[in-house]
Amino acid sequence: MSPRQSEARAADPAAAARRGRGARTPATQRPPKIGFVSLGCPKALVDSERILTHLRAEGYEIAPTYEAADVVVVNTCGFIDAAVDESLEAIGEALEQNGRVIVTGCLGAKPQRILERHPRVLKVTGPHAYEDVLSAVHEHLPPRHDPFLDLVPPQGVRLTPRHYAYLKIAEGCNNRCSFCIIPAMRGRLVSRRIDDVLREAERLASAGVKELLVISQDTSAYGADLRYARGEWRGVSYQTRFLELARALSELPVWVRLHYVYPYPHVDAVIPLMAEGRLLPYLDIPFQHASPAVLRRMRRPAHAEDTLARIRAWRHICPGLTLRSTFIVGFPGETEDEFAELLAWLDEAELDRVGCFRYSPVEGAAANALPDHVPPPLQEERYARFMERAAAISARRLAARVGQRVRVIVDEVSDEVATARSAAEAPQIDGIVRIVRDADKGSAGSRTGEKNARWLSAGEKNSARSHAKDTNAASLNAGEKNSGGLRAGQKNSAWLSAGEGNSAWLRAGQWADVEIVGADAYDLTGRLVEAV
Ligand code: SF4
Repeated sequence: MSPRQSEARAADPAAAARRGRGARTPATQRPPKIGFVSLGCPKALVDSERILTHLRAEGYEIAPTYEAADVVVVNTCGFIDAAVDESLEAIGEALEQNGRVIVTGCLGAKPQRILERHPRVLKVTGPHAYEDVLSAVHEHLPPRHDPFLDLVPPQGVRLTPRHYAYLKIAEGCNNRCSFCIIPAMRGRLVSRRIDDVLREAERLASAGVKELLVISQDTSAYGADLRYARGEWRGVSYQTRFLELARALSELPVWVRLHYVYPYPHVDAVIPLMAEGRLLPYLDIPFQHASPAVLRRMRRPAHAEDTLARIRAWRHICPGLTLRSTFIVGFPGETEDEFAELLAWLDEAELDRVGCFRYSPVEGAAANALPDHVPPPLQEERYARFMERAAAISARRLAARVGQRVRVIVDEVSDEVATARSAAEAPQIDGIVRIVRDADKGSAGSRTGEKNARWLSAGEKNSARSHAKDTNAASLNAGEKNSGGLRAGQKNSAWLSAGEGNSAWLRAGQWADVEIVGADAYDLTGRLVEAV
């Protein structure tokens, strides 16, 4: 909407009154339309999908723009101050552009913070309070349900491209990391029963999903709250437990990727499944630091484990294992020796993908009370040193992949270039495998570090993108990655069209075999060998 239109709308007292209070009945008998803004981590994205699925089932349509929406729901993130600011800005934008806004999500746990700045919001509901959001929508925009017209696909409404999906197995967390307020916002661990999770996974796979990303706050703790209750799936009884879930998911003909896994001893048991090719050989483990003293101050789960020994053992069993992690530098009290310990650990661990965050205080976190906060310039210096070291390791490990033939899944396709990922790259947070059409013609960068003119610009753009992503993540906080503020119906529709677009040589969601012909610090370039 242009500023002019905004003024016109603000000057219309009837419209302002409609926006400001009570239910708005759509002027025609068209279905009521919801605009949706989803911010925060993949777990919040799954919450958004769940809310949208309910709303679609009730006959609401999803509006692609603020203009087209009768009411806008903003699913917020409140993890750290930067995320709070982004959420407050998004609410402000929705109010300005549409005027009728319902707020939910993590920041909803602090309604006063929202209402102080935006008193005009219609309603504030808290994290994973699905019923409350739905009631608020019903109150301000009643549904017009027509069971013959309102069809929801069996896999529900998803905000990811159709070939991958997040599978949320639990909510909340029983840990008490001193820098984190998620347990206060989202409560203690509540696992979904294994049969429920497996049925959802099966539905997704039947709907064409080819990659499942298993998420929760602490995936390795899955089922502890249910005392590992049993559930039946496909005639077999399984315990609600990390390893059994991994085993059962490996029965499906999809890629299964594990996120937010902590290095508890029982995690060792999934590595053979990865070595056998039943799960993707990929572990996302938020180590956060390597100095035992810092980890103790962080109150990290598994802080006493010898993680280097564990990583060595894992790689021995599964040499192709990709390890990704996030770290915090400049945590209160971090000494130069403790930071040096982290760098030495990093050299030994040789992780494939690493994100880094400068410590930043979060309102309500226990770490705020710790002594000896590290001054920002020193945090900055350590961050730069850490990233330089991590980038060199990553570049080395990526260069070692040149010449390998790997299976990839294609995310987006244009006439000349396709963006894909192998088992070693998770969507949104890792690098990519760029496939150049007809890479054989000309000198398509067949040696490490060499980029031919055709993909140099794409390479630069993508490196910049990866770097920007790290920088963005760095302003947030450890363990939680921001999905970049997905606006449902905007970025999502771009994904959908990418998925639907078919440039004949490849299509989104397709598997392909490629030969890796080039690498930089973040991304790989591949030559298409065969579309599968
Ligand atoms: S950082 Fe993760 S494991 Fe620690 S309390 Fe927060 S959600 Fe739980």
